[in-house]
Amino acid sequence: MDTRLNDVRAHLARFPKKLAEIDARVAAAKADVDATKASQLTAIKDRKKYELDVEQWKERVRKYKDQTSQVKTNEAYRALQHEIQMAEDEIAKAEDRLLEQMVAGEEYDRRIKASEKTLKEVEAIAATERAKIEAEKAKAEKEQAQLSSEREAAIAEIPENLLDHYTRIANKHNGIALAEVRDEKCSACGMIVRPHVFQEMRRSGNEEMFHCETCTRILYYIEPSTAAAPAAASASASSNSEI
Ligand SMILES: [Zn+2]
Repeated sequence: MDTRLNDVRAHLARFPKKLAEIDARVAAAKADVDATKASQLTAIKDRKKYELDVEQWKERVRKYKDQTSQVKTNEAYRALQHEIQMAEDEIAKAEDRLLEQMVAGEEYDRRIKASEKTLKEVEAIAATERAKIEAEKAKAEKEQAQLSSEREAAIAEIPENLLDHYTRIANKHNGIALAEVRDEKCSACGMIVRPHVFQEMRRSGNEEMFHCETCTRILYYIEPSTAAAPAAASASASSNSEI
């Protein structure tokens, strides 16, 4: 029972990590959507700045053109024409940047749509996985409750000093105080059981208590013949009934 309880507890202990992994995947997909949206926002701000640049240079051109009618010398006129030309070059450059931003803007729309689609898919998979884990968890919790009550019932029949002894050993070994002897070895720690101890064990038929000399767990031994006998008997019984 304690072995099974240990297994159930270990099983239950794995669920929080699994759920956290699912949450992390959803969070990463969300972060991707947010990052793409933030990039788009920056691009929109840049576009507004370029639009403003165009307007400012155009305003300057208008001002220079107004001044043209007032100039008295050819030299001043040429200087003004030069300023106008430079400002128009700047307008052309700002308009080029603006166009690039508009093309990029469409790319952002496409990327946002793609990342939102991915997020939806990740969320759908996460919901399915979460439901599966929750169901598994509920099943394990039920099993744990069942085993715990079975354990309570079993404990009630064990003398207190024996139970204390068992608990002390169990506490040292992750809840497992018993070890089966297999191939004349303690199956928990692998230590060989000395031949005379093994003989004693077999003679007493688990009526006496033996401990592993290394790990101190309580040893028990199941004779292969006694384990196989009932099975063989029932097998022959069933074959007889068939005849
Ligand atoms: Zn041992």
